[in-house]
Amino acid sequence: MNTLPGKKPEQSALIRAITRLMPSNCLLCDDQVEWQHGLCKECWGTLPRNTTSCRVCALPLTGGRLCGACQTHPSALDKVVAPMIYRQPVDRIVCELKYRERLSWARTAAELIVEIIRQRDEAMPDFLVPVPMTLRAVRRRGFNQSAYIARLVGRRLRIKTRGGIIVKHRETERQSNLSYRERQSNLRGAFEVLKRPVGQSIVLIDDVVTTGSTANELARVLKKAGAAEVSAWAFARTPDKI
Ligand SMILES: [Zn+2]
Ligand SMILES: [Zn+2]
Repeated sequence: MNTLPGKKPEQSALIRAITRLMPSNCLLCDDQVEWQHGLCKECWGTLPRNTTSCRVCALPLTGGRLCGACQTHPSALDKVVAPMIYRQPVDRIVCELKYRERLSWARTAAELIVEIIRQRDEAMPDFLVPVPMTLRAVRRRGFNQSAYIARLVGRRLRIKTRGGIIVKHRETERQSNLSYRERQSNLRGAFEVLKRPVGQSIVLIDDVVTTGSTANELARVLKKAGAAEVSAWAFARTPDKI
């Protein structure tokens, strides 16, 4: 049987339309049908929610409202909001997003951030700034996952994203291996503000807030350059010791 050359595009358009109508599978188990934000109902139920946390840095707490670190070292950040605890399966989601380029996870992360921001009725900033990576690191990975999340969050909440106002000039060591003082000196001079955000309120977007030192240093530098308020919205927050 002869295949008509004109048939093929039509068929593939039909297949594309059917695929769009078919429910997609859960990004995590690939077994059940997606329920919301890329996950099935069962996997959704396993997400480690960060419900009791420090009101400043979002560190998961069992009780109290301010963690020890925020009591001893006041943060330059006004607030951190993180809906998830960096624990299974959130760690797997973040690793797949960062190291296996599974960008559909950026949508899950963004939608979970949007959900908590709306639930808590958080104030909208003037703009979002994804936590910057050095040019070299972006080239190596091919993308900055925080920039993806920021764009999606910005689109849903109608907030502009201005990634270009601050750049990262040099690599910094993994913060979690360092003491508080070492973290401070490790980060000094790593960031440069290119456009002064005078009087503006900014929200930094990150995938995971680990020690909070990077976001804190960004907030310090942005405030020094004139920013009125700097908070951070992240997908997840690491517990105290991992
Ligand atoms: Zn699932
Ligand atoms: Zn805290």
